[in-house]
Formats: sequence, C-alpha cells, structure tokens
Amino acid sequence: MTDDKWRISELRRLIETCTRAVVFTGAGISTESGIPDFRSPGGVWTKYTPILFEDFTSSEDARRESWRRKFDDSYGFEGAEPNRGHRAVAKLFRIGKVSAVITQNTDGLHQKSGIPEKGIIELHGNNTYASCLDCCFRYELGPIKKAFVSEGVLPICDRCGGLVKGATISFGQPMPEAPMLCAQEETMACDLFMAIGSSLQVYPAAGFPQTAVKNGAGLVILNRDSTNLDSFADIVLNMEIGSTLGDAVGVN
Ligand SMILES: [Zn+2]
Repeated sequence: MTDDKWRISELRRLIETCTRAVVFTGAGISTESGIPDFRSPGGVWTKYTPILFEDFTSSEDARRESWRRKFDDSYGFEGAEPNRGHRAVAKLFRIGKVSAVITQNTDGLHQKSGIPEKGIIELHGNNTYASCLDCCFRYELGPIKKAFVSEGVLPICDRCGGLVKGATISFGQPMPEAPMLCAQEETMACDLFMAIGSSLQVYPAAGFPQTAVKNGAGLVILNRDSTNLDSFADIVLNMEIGSTLGDAVGVN
C-alpha cells in the first residue's frame, strides 16, 4: 500500500470509530471550487486593501467602495459550486457522524452542499447575504445590488435605520460571540476533530484543535501544507482535499 492509500484508510478508520466528529474548514476546501484564498500570495488582499470595519461605519466613501467590490465580484465568489470535499462533509453530517461544521469560510458552499444552517457555525460571517449592523435583520443581495448599480443607493435598514453591510466579519470588526461559543461547545463535545484546508494560524480559530486534543479527542489535519499543530494530530494528510476526503467517505 502506498503512503497516501494508507493515510486514506487510516482516515476512514478514524471516522468509522468515532461517535461524534466536528469538521473545521478553512480556505483550502474552497480553493478546489475556484475561490481564491484571500491571504495567499496573489490573493485578494494583495490586490485590494481590506476595508476596515471602522471605515465602513464612519465613511460613506468606504461603504460605496465595499459594495462596489462585492458587486463586481472582486472576491471571485460568483457561480462557485461545492466540490467533492464539501460533498463528503455533507454526507458525514447527513449520516450523523458530524455534529457541526465550524468554518472560517464565508462563501456559503457548505449550505449549498446540503448542510442545514443549524449544522454550520460561521466564524467570519457569510458573503452571500447582508445584515443590519444594529438590529441584525437579514437582507438578500439581489435588491441591494439592483438599487446600488442602477442608482448608487447605499442600503439602510427599513426597520431601524441602521447601516446594512455584507454579513461577513470585516477586519477590525469584533468576532461574533454566539458562533464562537457554539464552536467551543461543539469542540468540547466531539471525540474526533477534523481540521480541513486551514493553516491553523489565525487565532482564536486555531485554538479549537488544541482544545479538542486536550479534551481527549482525536485530531485529523488535512491541508495542502504542514501546520504548527501537526505534532498534536493522530494523522496528518498533506493531500488534495476533495479526492482524499471523497475516497475516505465514499463520495464522488
Ligand atoms: Zn436594523
């Protein structure tokens, strides 16, 4: 058996023997759907200066620039579809192996792959809709885009007059408390933590695998490159995500 085949069979064994797994995903799972990794060389943040949360709330120009970028698809999200990796995760959720998917991604591809909202914990928000910064009411992007593109209208909340912003967490914006708490609870309750497509460098997210291990859970790391937490893992797979997970889980 080749090393890769052995690793996949070992991954399959770990999944089969666990009772409650948590999947944690980062940009790596979505690059296989054609979504660029923002932080990588050549990624979005090397082309655009991020708009800080403080600037969004204080400057109309910054808000205009933020919506302009979103609607000319500067971030490359438009038309992206879930790939084999997302489908494998969705199957694990469907059969009850995985209790929650914690994600750093904002592309909505876990939802699109069939996992219900209640099974997904988004640490950095969601790029596929908008919400009011004051009352949190959700707004769909279609009508906002229409008004912005045709008349340059910047969206304001109908209910409270607050600023409406894309539902991602911007640089400088506080991490939302509720998802962080849910992620912590799920991490403490799992017996297998699967970190997929994340370099595990950004805190607080990078703390979850360590919490899981300290609590006695197994740790799987599936990522293109090595990570700082590799030595804590039961198995490290520096392999393509879709084919590896697809083979381990039996999904095409
Ligand atoms: Zn509002």
